Amino acid sequence: MNTDTPKLSLVIPVFNEAPGLQELHQRTTAALEGLAQPWEVIAVDDGSQDASLEMLRSFREQDKRWRVVRLSRNFGQSAALYAGFSYARGEYVLMMDADLQVFPEDIPLLYAKLADGCDMVSGWRVNRRDSLFRKAISLLLNRYTEKVTGFKIHDHGCSLKGFSRRLVDNMLQFSHRCRYLPVDAAMLGGRVEEVEVRHAERRHGASKYSLFKLLRTGFDMVTSITIMPLQLIGLLGGLCAITGFAMGLRVLYIRLLYGNLLQLESVIAAFFFLSGMQLMVTGLMCEYVGRIYIETQRKPLFVIQEELE
Ligand code: UDP
Ligand code: MG
Repeated sequence: MNTDTPKLSLVIPVFNEAPGLQELHQRTTAALEGLAQPWEVIAVDDGSQDASLEMLRSFREQDKRWRVVRLSRNFGQSAALYAGFSYARGEYVLMMDADLQVFPEDIPLLYAKLADGCDMVSGWRVNRRDSLFRKAISLLLNRYTEKVTGFKIHDHGCSLKGFSRRLVDNMLQFSHRCRYLPVDAAMLGGRVEEVEVRHAERRHGASKYSLFKLLRTGFDMVTSITIMPLQLIGLLGGLCAITGFAMGLRVLYIRLLYGNLLQLESVIAAFFFLSGMQLMVTGLMCEYVGRIYIETQRKPLFVIQEELE
């Protein structure tokens, strides 16, 4: 590795963040200087319509270690991060939001873990300063991600994270379209650690995630990482059919012993049974559709950590 290569790259997605950028520039530069290692910042302008780009341009003019990549329109935070990762040259690659909700001053904590050989280090916002609703959604998504990836960290959604070069290179090789970085990173495994980080309320502007966008993103994430929702259909069908069948048995039993007393129940039983069977058949079809979906994602079957030869 030649001396021009930065030890550490910090990727920052920026979408209409002009009011806070000056402070971001100043605090981030100070925090990175404190590491006494060559560094670069890759600010990805995700189609901002305010003065963000001009400000980033001026940071670049002052200091060439601030690199700026401008996307042609707004592609979303996840795409902006991947764009930044593809430009990052550092041995360690970190990411951080531009809104100063997480603290650039916490970067050394993550750096220390990476330097110690971690493949991924994630911030954990112990005192998270977001609305209750946001925290509730995050809790659900965290649990879901944990369940399907088998990967347990407290705060999948924390925007302060760091990765080894190996992990970043692997992530960039994935070709599936619907990308959630914490999920991709979780899939790659390796040595993962967490560090507690500070969190503040957003001081400038509002969150870029409206209620609709938040739900959309959550739904996108859920459907991009498993076919479990599809599999639930068949399961639901099975439960319905069994319920209908059990009710039918009861109706038959009463009928044989006491006569035709449960006419309404017999119709309900038939309804449950038949709709359950239909759902089960749909579930079977979903299973095939799900498999096609998995195949098209072309995720790697395994990932090598190291060869001891
Ligand atoms: N962001 C982006 N593109 C988008 C939305 C957000 O690059 O379409 C950036 C935004 O500028 C910020 C980060 O992603 O740096 C997180 O956004 P925000 O603070 O609105 O998310 P929240 O903290 O509410 O989850
Ligand atoms: Mg924020």
